[in-house]
Amino acid sequence: MDNTNYLNLTTMKKNILIISLLVSVLAIFSNCKEQRAYKALIITGQNNHNWQASSPVLKQLLDQTKLFTTDITETPAPGKDMSTFNPEFAKYDVVVLDYTGDAWPEKTKTAFVDYVKNGGGVVVYHAADNAFTDWKEYNEMIGLGGWGGRTEKDGPYVYFKDGKQVSDSTPGNGGSHGARHEFKVQLRNTEHPITKGLPSKWLHAEDELYSQLRGPAKNMEILATAFADTSKGGTGRDEPALFTITYGKGRIFHTTLGHCGNGDKNFPAMECAGFITTFQRGTEWAASSVVTQSVPVDFPNSASVVQWPEYKPLSLDEIVSEIEKYDVSKSRKYIYDLQNRLRSADGNPEVLLSYEKLMVKILESNIATIDAKKFVLRELSWMGSDYCISKLKKLETSDDLKDEVKFALTRLQPSK
Ligand code: ZN
Repeated sequence: MDNTNYLNLTTMKKNILIISLLVSVLAIFSNCKEQRAYKALIITGQNNHNWQASSPVLKQLLDQTKLFTTDITETPAPGKDMSTFNPEFAKYDVVVLDYTGDAWPEKTKTAFVDYVKNGGGVVVYHAADNAFTDWKEYNEMIGLGGWGGRTEKDGPYVYFKDGKQVSDSTPGNGGSHGARHEFKVQLRNTEHPITKGLPSKWLHAEDELYSQLRGPAKNMEILATAFADTSKGGTGRDEPALFTITYGKGRIFHTTLGHCGNGDKNFPAMECAGFITTFQRGTEWAASSVVTQSVPVDFPNSASVVQWPEYKPLSLDEIVSEIEKYDVSKSRKYIYDLQNRLRSADGNPEVLLSYEKLMVKILESNIATIDAKKFVLRELSWMGSDYCISKLKKLETSDDLKDEVKFALTRLQPSK
């Protein structure tokens, strides 16, 4: 090897070294850019509301801020063995509760209390304040709750009267709401990180106005109230709508807003820009004690509701029409939605039959994709009833589907 070649080789090696260093530095920078500040966990799986629709929207709302990486975890279905439900709370900066249902196992309750005491954030969303009447620590974390047999034994009613916060020990049931309607939300603290910069009054889209909540209300601060008009079946009081609680080192943001009903076709409360913005800001505060998000220019004022329909939860009909277009190489979102609903209806033949009828419609549809039909057949194989068997038999000779049909029929008629 002569000297020139040796020098060339050394220069090449140097160049390669410099290039690879540059690539690593760039990779580090681009990773930093991708790195999101907080990890959020949404807990759902049981609710007297449409959690299958609300939880994916809550995740979308948090992910959209680019601050959160959000996971959803589901408990077992009502009445099923809960002993396996034990999320790793400590992995998360904030836990969002879209849950009311069966009691968690003792070890899970203890882990959750420890998580909050040690500084974990919590967001209590709408009916999550109906949950766990008998769990003392939980009620201290949520501040106020409703329904579930709550009475004066659980704490006072708390509301605003003549501009002042009232703690009222009058006996009576906790939790009520009148007819759904649009109502004004009035800030009671305009300097809190969550509310700073928001208009002092804004019109919220049609929602339930939670009233007569009661609870320990310790270390609690009411950020906003809503007047429950008696003409709408309300209490005639300014009821707490947004509030914060501290528990140990943990911060809790409680929003009573955002009703998402079973069987509803429209979800105005969840699409409301006021609900969305306060949920996003409240979750950041619970995770970190600060809010870095700016107030959107189209935040509602006291004269008009603002809705952001891109966050609309989907009705079952809409999910079915999306599934008809299903292509395995694309998003599983709608498939996942329907699967969730089927799993949670397991053991409830009436509900399963209503889904089965919609699924058979997909099988018979001229526009549904083969991928959609294959998905439907796979699901029918475990939850189908006599209703679908004759319909499946008509597809036994279908070139595209005969294997899946045979599989489903074999599972549905094990004796044959
Ligand atoms: Zn509701």
